[in-house]
Amino acid sequence: MSDIKNEIKKRRTFAIISHPDAGKTTLTEKFLLYGGVINTAGSVKGKATAKHAVSDWMEIEKERGISVTSSVLQFNYGGYCINILDTPGHQDFSEDTYRTLMAADSAVMVIDASKGVEAQTRKLFKVCAMRHIPIFTFINKMDRDAKDTFDLLDDIEKELGIPTCPVNWPIGSGKAFKGVFDRQKKEVDLFSDTRKGTSMGEVKKVAINNPEVDWLIGTEAKVTLEEEIELLDGAAAEFDQDLVDKGELSPVFFGSALTNFGVETFLQHFLTMTTSPLPRMSDHGEIDPMKEEDFSAFVFKIQANMNKAHRDRIAFMRICSGEFDAGMSVYHVQGGKDVRLSQPQQMMASERKIIDKAYAGDVIGVFDPGIFSIGDTLTTSKEKFAYEGIPTFAPEHFARVRQVDTMKRKQFVKGINQIAQEGAIQIFQEYNTGMEEIIVGVVGVLQFDVLKYRLKNEYNVDIILENLPYEHIRWIENEDIDLDRVSGTSDMKKIKDLKDRPLLLFVHEWSIRMTQERNEGLILSEFGRS
Ligand code: GDP
Repeated sequence: MSDIKNEIKKRRTFAIISHPDAGKTTLTEKFLLYGGVINTAGSVKGKATAKHAVSDWMEIEKERGISVTSSVLQFNYGGYCINILDTPGHQDFSEDTYRTLMAADSAVMVIDASKGVEAQTRKLFKVCAMRHIPIFTFINKMDRDAKDTFDLLDDIEKELGIPTCPVNWPIGSGKAFKGVFDRQKKEVDLFSDTRKGTSMGEVKKVAINNPEVDWLIGTEAKVTLEEEIELLDGAAAEFDQDLVDKGELSPVFFGSALTNFGVETFLQHFLTMTTSPLPRMSDHGEIDPMKEEDFSAFVFKIQANMNKAHRDRIAFMRICSGEFDAGMSVYHVQGGKDVRLSQPQQMMASERKIIDKAYAGDVIGVFDPGIFSIGDTLTTSKEKFAYEGIPTFAPEHFARVRQVDTMKRKQFVKGINQIAQEGAIQIFQEYNTGMEEIIVGVVGVLQFDVLKYRLKNEYNVDIILENLPYEHIRWIENEDIDLDRVSGTSDMKKIKDLKDRPLLLFVHEWSIRMTQERNEGLILSEFGRS
C-alpha cells in the first residue's frame, strides 16, 4: 500500500454527541490523556478557558465564556491518527453542531447513566442515523447512582430505535462501581489508582472463572454479575460488525470519564470497531478514499471574523480523498476556478497550528476570501465532481427582523445574506401577508445575538428582533404545489425561502401530523436542500 493509503487507513474521524453535562468534555479530555497529549487530566484548564483558547474570536464569546463554533482535535493513539470533531452544545448549540456530524465517519454517544437518553442526544442521534454511520454508546457516570442497566439499554432502544449490544457490563454502580466485565474475553477489568481521574491508573484483568474475582469484587457483586450476564446473553443482540458499520447496531460500553474507569477499554475497542475514512457520494458516483488518488474535500463550516482586524473567514473542510499539501492549487467546483488553499490550519489539542500535510479523514481550515459556501467541493481530480450537498437543518427558533433605520436597507440585505450564506442563520420571506420583513430561523437561540451583534459591528445596521412562537418547520417536497390550497391548523404559518420554495411553520408538533392528514399527498421534510 502506498504511504498515502497507509496514512488514510489509520485515520479515525468521529464526533462525540451528548446532551449537555453528560460528560463529553471530560471524556474528550481523558482520550487526550491516553493519547499522551496532556500529562495530567484537569491540566487542560477550566472548561471555559480551554474553549476560549481555541476560538476567542468574538466579543460575544469572550463576554459569555462560551464557544460559538466547533473545533477539531487531532492526536495519535495505538497506531491510529484520531480526529475528534467537537460538536458545540449548551447555548452555543447551532446548525454547526449538526453540520459537524456531516464530516464525521462515526459518532460516540455519551449518555449519563442516571438520566438515560435526553433531548439533545435524541436530535443529534437523528442526524447520525440519517447518514447510517456507526454509532457507539458510552454510558458515563457509573461512579454515581445509575439507573438499572437493563432499563438504560431499553431506553436507548425504544427512544432511538437502535438495537444495542453491550461489549462490556458494569460491575456495580455508584460507590460500589469496581469495573467492567468484558463479554468477549470473559474477564473482569478492575480499575484503580487513577488519583481521582488525574492519571491513567492501573487496570487489573482477571478471568471471570478465577476464584480471585470473588474477593476482588466481593461474592455478592459476583453473584449479581453472573445473574446479569446470564440474562444478558439470552436477551441482547449478538455483536455483528456489519450491522455496526451500517449504523444498525450500537455497541455499548460502561464507565466513568471522571475517574477514568473504562475509558481506555472503550477507546481500544472503539478504534478497532469503528471505520477508517468512508467513501462519500458525489454527482459522479461514490468517491472511495482507498481508490481515488486525487485530493478532494468539501466545506462543512465557515467561521467568520476570527481576526477582527482583517475581517476574514476560515472555511473548514473535510478531506475525503488524497493528500493535501500546503499552498496547493485546487479546483473549486462551485466557483468554477482554481484556488490556492492558503494558511491551512489544524487543531492539535487546543492549539491552532499551521500544517503542511493532511490526508483523507482530516479536517483543515483555510483562509476564505469570501468565495466558499457550505457544501462546496474542492478537488485536484480531472473529473471535477461535486460532493452531495449538506442538508439544511430545521431551525427551532424564529423571529421577525425589523430594521431600525430603513434607509440602510442595502447594507441590511447584504449583511443578512452574507451571514445566512455562512450558515449561521436561515432566512425566509413572508407569504401573502404584504409584509416585507424577513423571518430568521436559527437552530440555537444564541445565533440571534450573533446576528444582532454582527449586523451592528460589521454592517452598522441596528435591528429589532420580534420573537415568533413557532418551533417546528417543514419543507414541502412536492414539486408543484399551490401553497394557497394547503389547509393547515390555526397555529400554522406559510412562508417561503429566498428561492421561493414553500415551507410551513408550526407552534405545536402535533399540528404537523394533522396538516399532513388534511392534505393528501403532501410531502413534508425535516431537512431542506440548500
Ligand atoms: P459536557 O457538557 O457533556 O461536555 O459535560 P462535562 O464533561 O463538562 O461534564 C459535566 C459535569 O459532569 C462536570 O462537572 C464533570 O466533572 C462531571 N462528570 C463528567 N463525567 C463524570 C463521571 O464519569 N462521573 C461523575 N460523577 N461526574 C462526571
